[in-house]
Amino acid sequence: MSSPVSSSAIASELRKLFTKSQLLTHPAACNAYGYDNSRMHAQPAAVLLAEQSDEISTLLHWCYQRRVPVTCRGRGTGTTGGSVPLLGGVVLSLERMQRIIDFDPANRTMTVEPGVINSAVQSLAATAGLFWPPDPTSRDACTIGGNLACNAAGARAVKYGTPRENTLGLRAVDGRGRSLRCGCYTTKGVVGYDLTRLLIGSEGTLAVITEATLKLHPLAAARRTLRLSYDTIHSAATAVTRIMGQPIIPYTLEMMDKRAIAMVRDRYPLGLPANTGALLLVEVEGSVESLDAAVAAVITAGSVSGLLEQLEPHTQAEIDRLWQTRKVLSPTLRQIAPKKINEDVVVPITAIPDLIEGLAQIEATYHLPIVNFGHAGNGNIHVNLLIDSDDVAQMQRAEVALSEIFTLVLSLKGTLSGEHGVGRSKRDYISRELDPVSLDLMWAIKNQFDPAHILNPEKSLPYQTPLN
Ligand SMILES: Cc1cc2nc3c(=O)[nH]c(=O)nc-3n(C[C@H](O)[C@H](O)[C@H](O)COP(=O)(O)OP(=O)(O)OC[C@H]3O[C@@H](n4cnc5c(N)ncnc54)[C@H](O)[C@@H]3O)c2cc1C
Repeated sequence: MSSPVSSSAIASELRKLFTKSQLLTHPAACNAYGYDNSRMHAQPAAVLLAEQSDEISTLLHWCYQRRVPVTCRGRGTGTTGGSVPLLGGVVLSLERMQRIIDFDPANRTMTVEPGVINSAVQSLAATAGLFWPPDPTSRDACTIGGNLACNAAGARAVKYGTPRENTLGLRAVDGRGRSLRCGCYTTKGVVGYDLTRLLIGSEGTLAVITEATLKLHPLAAARRTLRLSYDTIHSAATAVTRIMGQPIIPYTLEMMDKRAIAMVRDRYPLGLPANTGALLLVEVEGSVESLDAAVAAVITAGSVSGLLEQLEPHTQAEIDRLWQTRKVLSPTLRQIAPKKINEDVVVPITAIPDLIEGLAQIEATYHLPIVNFGHAGNGNIHVNLLIDSDDVAQMQRAEVALSEIFTLVLSLKGTLSGEHGVGRSKRDYISRELDPVSLDLMWAIKNQFDPAHILNPEKSLPYQTPLN
């Protein structure tokens, strides 16, 4: 089903409602708003560069009455096609809504518009010795609205949680154009249903987030970084379980498998032991005095059979170089296999060895290179199938392999996405994870927020016949 109103009618009607400087209707200008990092593309009829919440209400009310699809967009760094306007209609870009509405260090909160870039929040918070924990690698490009819509988290989630744990309240506009405020400005509150947590992670399918009150945390006085190298991924996975099983929760706990190391090693000298099969990057934070004990605890827990080397860089340049290993991984893989499939499955941390074992079997069965790395402290592993989507035979094998990967993950009590979301690319798989009654209730919620199904159609929820 595409938009019931023609592209030209959408453009000419919206020109009556919005100023020229806010509305893009030329196909060439709109084209750039039709993609995201999934590399899917669809052409919208118009793009509204919203500047105020009441403009969003006006747009959504107009679209609701005419059944015109609306796709929200932060900066299009999402990986699942979430901001791609699959049915055409209007792209609602939040990029101009960049105001910091309130910064309240005493109460450790910051209230922002959705188009504020993640790193801008971090920079301002840091002036008062604070930070907001969600920290995707795309922090310099992605928006708070996009972070909330995907519950995008990054490496610090192992200690501080995701946007769901770090957002106190929201303002939003529903699928009829009605404004609402949910949550509170305090760190405790239990009045009414928790719409804040519901909207976070709903990927623009229930409402447009127009304002967020973020919960900030104090920056620790000091932080130390360790690189632990292992002979095999199994040794590293065992170490992860042990590190997470002791009382000092790391600030970050990242893992890279052998193939991931090889990719980076070809480009950057890593100085790793020759037979390294996996490595962990671990950070601990706290007061300066507490860190000797924290580092010792991590090393003790990580000293499993197969530990080849423990390295602690001391200068900032050494630490940066070490993190560079992890940061360049995604772009490097993208250069090697521009059309790779990138999944972000999660399993309980004790199941990481079984996941890695199962992935190795799938790799061997389907002759597909698989590179694994990610936020091991949460059991959130980015599984990258290095495929060439122009190779038809390889793509067919990849589809079967992907299906088996999801079966494996669910058999280990895992979940199909930790932080990238469902979007379009995983929508057809999620009924494997969610039972029919849950899906039925989710559709009922969708119908309440967005009765005309104009918000981000064809995303997130799979079609389902209503249950009796
Ligand atoms: C190099 C790179 C590294 C990345 N690293 C990480 C990582 O470490 N961790 C991680 O979790 N993700 C990561 N991502 C994925 C991506 O950056 C995040 O999902 C990010 O939160 C998306 O923000 P965005 O502003 O680009 O949103 P978009 O891609 O524009 O939109 C994402 C989704 O949010 C919806 N949306 C956007 N704004 C709103 C709003 N105001 N209200 C309602 N819905 C809205 C869109 O409709 C879409 O469904 C990475 C991406 C790249 C390219």
